[in-house]
Amino acid sequence: MSIKFCNQCGHSVKYRIPEGDDKPRAKCQSCDFIQYENPKIVNACIVEHEGKILLGKRTIEPRKGCWNVPAGFMENGEATRTGAIREVKEEVLADLKNVTLFGVYNIIQRNQVHVYFRGQLAHNHYGAGAETSEAKFFAPEHIPWDELAFPVGITALERYIKEMKTGDFSIKEEDIIIDYDLLKQYDMP
Ligand SMILES: [Zn+2]
Repeated sequence: MSIKFCNQCGHSVKYRIPEGDDKPRAKCQSCDFIQYENPKIVNACIVEHEGKILLGKRTIEPRKGCWNVPAGFMENGEATRTGAIREVKEEVLADLKNVTLFGVYNIIQRNQVHVYFRGQLAHNHYGAGAETSEAKFFAPEHIPWDELAFPVGITALERYIKEMKTGDFSIKEEDIIIDYDLLKQYDMP
């Protein structure tokens, strides 16, 4: 119940179940326009180079100062893969090759779907970009698990590191459950 005003005419809305529907929707009390709310898509990419994984240190909330797999909200007019490639370029200034799907993670508590790719560094160039104070490659045994920003990133990295030992990567769809204390702390899992 987060919408207060109509995005067509600016009048106030009320949540009502429209005829033939089964969920409350934000309906404008003036022009009758219904604003539907749907999950947001986040694209991410686990970047590997010489057996190490690239993480960026966040300069923005939520989870400022924590490390994260490069990730961000999908833009209109792009595909999931190009969105992930763009986020990597923006946040850690790296170009990728061999980008392929790794996992789809549903975060129902946040109404988000995170699409994780995996890829390799195309050139030996990277650095701190937008919203990032430091970009660094970590060997699997040196991943700063306690300083990782989001449960979804932890889940994806745990499987990635397990699978990189054999090079036999799978594609999985999983639900991420965030514990309540963590849920209160930040907006983006
Ligand atoms: Zn309206």
